[in-house]
Amino acid sequence: MTLNGKSAIVTGAASGIGAEIARVFAEAGAKVCIADLNEPRTGTKNTISLRMDVTDEGQVERGVDEAVRQLGGVDILVSNAGVQHIDSIAEVSFANWKRVLGIHLDGGFLTTRACLRHMIRQKRGGSIILMGSVHSLEASVQKGPYVAAKHGLAGLCRVVAKEGAPHGIRSNLICPGFVRTPLIERQIPQLAKEMNISEESVVKDVMLRTTVDGEFTTVNEVAQVALFLAAFPTKALTGQSIVVSHGWHMG
Ligand code: NAD
Repeated sequence: MTLNGKSAIVTGAASGIGAEIARVFAEAGAKVCIADLNEPRTGTKNTISLRMDVTDEGQVERGVDEAVRQLGGVDILVSNAGVQHIDSIAEVSFANWKRVLGIHLDGGFLTTRACLRHMIRQKRGGSIILMGSVHSLEASVQKGPYVAAKHGLAGLCRVVAKEGAPHGIRSNLICPGFVRTPLIERQIPQLAKEMNISEESVVKDVMLRTTVDGEFTTVNEVAQVALFLAAFPTKALTGQSIVVSHGWHMG
């Protein structure tokens, strides 16, 4: 799988899954823009970085324009920036509900719209990859805003697949299971407290109980799927939700 000659923007790529996607894309030959609230800790060959809050329309528009200028276009977007918030629907504040939906859904929309406009003008097709979750397809307790936002991204992905098709633009959703990134490390003690169980039990009996092998999905496993979707040559693969979860979710 090669991305030679391609330019990619990856949001939320200063950490976790996004950082590995940026590394794997650059290794496959792409020029990559890391767009995040934070600076990446390590620079990688063939990457540039831009500070961008994906919930801010002006920052997204200016950031994508700047990335396109520096990279010579945009062929691939990975809209990956995200956060989690642990609370029941009965308890969650409206501010936290809006914060989570804003980062995932507004961020997914704003970055997709900005890149689509460039891709349509460039007339060389493109691949939009949205970072969903098994929670795009299933619900869990204490994660209402996240589950609602991730389900929403599945709808956005399918609309973009239809509207992008005449321009040779594909759109797919990656749905990872639990990946041990800072986002998950923060959740383990919170869930242990909310559920009144040990942290070991959160990992074994909550997060990994229904996987086929009791293993976390790795950042590299998700990045390899992103590479496959980015490099896939035709619209046979568009509008799909691809689950990468060690069998947590099947079907
Ligand atoms: P992470 O916390 O390691 O990285 C998230 C990145 O997003 C951070 O660098 C952060 O600075 C950035 N970010 C947050 N808000 C932003 C904003 N407003 N603008 C720009 N950047 C922002 O988390 P991760 O686990 O690598 O998560 C990446 C994506 O994968 C998220 O969308 C998450 O929902 C999804 N996901 C993660 C898991 C998992 O188990 N870790 C599972 C399924 C889906």
